[in-house]
Amino acid sequence: MSARRCLRCLLREFDEDTYIRTLKEHIERTPAGDRAAPEIYKTRLDTCKSCDRLERGTCLACGCYVELRAASRRSRCPYGKW
Ligand code: SF4
Repeated sequence: MSARRCLRCLLREFDEDTYIRTLKEHIERTPAGDRAAPEIYKTRLDTCKSCDRLERGTCLACGCYVELRAASRRSRCPYGKW
């Protein structure tokens, strides 16, 4: 069984390519009505890129993957930056 089909695997069990692909697929599977508009998504990630709490894709304030958090229409930055 490939890692993509394993619903009980931890991300740390994936190789790096599978890990990144899994995150992207999760974002793509987010229903359109729940997803942030592309321009809002970009603005959010631009804000994260300039934030000193961003480390290797993870927000040190909340532990989330910022690309996942920013993709959701209802998500907010824990520090109110977006
Ligand atoms: S979610 Fe907020 S606190 Fe976290 S990295 Fe992005 S801007 Fe910074």
